[in-house]
Amino acid sequence: MPKATDTILEIDLNALDNNFKYLTSKIAPDTMVLAVVKAYAYGNDSIAIAKELETLNVDYFAVAYTGEGVVLRDGAIKTPILVLHPVPTNFEEIIDRCLEPSIYSQKILREFIAVAEAKGQNDYPIHLKFNTGLNRLGFESHQISFISEELSKTSCVKVKSVFSHLAASEDLNEKEFTEQQISNFTKMSSDLINALGYRPLLHCTNTSGILNYPEAHFDMVRTGIGLYGYGNDKKYNKYLKPIGTLKTVISQIHSIVKGESVGYNRGFFAERPTRSATLPIGHADGIPRSYGKGKGWVTIHGKKAPIIGNVCMDMIMVDVTDIECEEGDEVIVFGPSVTAEELSAAINSISYELITAVSQRVQRVICRK
Ligand SMILES: *Cc1c(COP(=O)(O)O)cnc(C)c1O
Repeated sequence: MPKATDTILEIDLNALDNNFKYLTSKIAPDTMVLAVVKAYAYGNDSIAIAKELETLNVDYFAVAYTGEGVVLRDGAIKTPILVLHPVPTNFEEIIDRCLEPSIYSQKILREFIAVAEAKGQNDYPIHLKFNTGLNRLGFESHQISFISEELSKTSCVKVKSVFSHLAASEDLNEKEFTEQQISNFTKMSSDLINALGYRPLLHCTNTSGILNYPEAHFDMVRTGIGLYGYGNDKKYNKYLKPIGTLKTVISQIHSIVKGESVGYNRGFFAERPTRSATLPIGHADGIPRSYGKGKGWVTIHGKKAPIIGNVCMDMIMVDVTDIECEEGDEVIVFGPSVTAEELSAAINSISYELITAVSQRVQRVICRK
């Protein structure tokens, strides 16, 4: 790649291939793979990522919201798409665009059936979500008889899969809790299968679940963060490669006299003669204000340049006193060398939050390294 001359997010499809192959090496050959491409494929580019994953024979996609599924269909993505968090106002569009809803409550089940009936559907695929301990979305075990009764009254929908979501699959201190979730899932899904009289696909692991709980892969696994190169653990990170590199450039360098301030609200005072570099990236591009005042940093010629003062909407200023650099030089915010996991730890956050925050005004550049 040529050096960056503006703020860009480089997306390396070869890294995506590497991560997909590593994750699929951890599952049985007949286990299906669902790629989670919600939130612009974790801040990358959902259509480019989905297209590449289709060439790798991914079995399923998932998005959070209906609109995200519509974008994929508009982008000519043909693979089945599970919508994890639909609301009733989306149901017509879900059917019109061949999206498959997660059905997580009695109200949602009834309302989806009503729309599917009104639209004359037969065996329309739905996915039942069970709450096994996350307490976020999903049916409880005592609602299984309600579900099977409602389903026995109609042929307009058919349960394609039954799934649940783990609360702490990356945290081995919570192993006992996770194993309890897995056993709740096993029990609930077998009760449901008995009540339905047929066996849908079962799935309950996210990336860390795939890596830490091989006994819980069931028929399909769901992976998001791992595809983008983060394994939530040093021991897995070494096999994964961050696919996104957020880069920018130095627009201007200032010499700050000892005692002068830099930036809004005079967030930084020079305690020594300081060289500051101003960069065209700010909180509206995805660098939250909480990275200001020395918490966050960027990398210039391999050296750390701390953010000084407050993060502005469209700029940050960094301390380059000890770095040989000039206006126009390339700056790395995060990528394979300085990871989003490392940088986000500076504000007690996680890779997920930093990579999904890169705003839509940052140009995406697709490449293969
Ligand atoms: C976002 C999401 C995932 C993906 O989790 P990762 O930790 O990124 O692999 C899987 N399942 C559900 C239900 C999700 O909401």
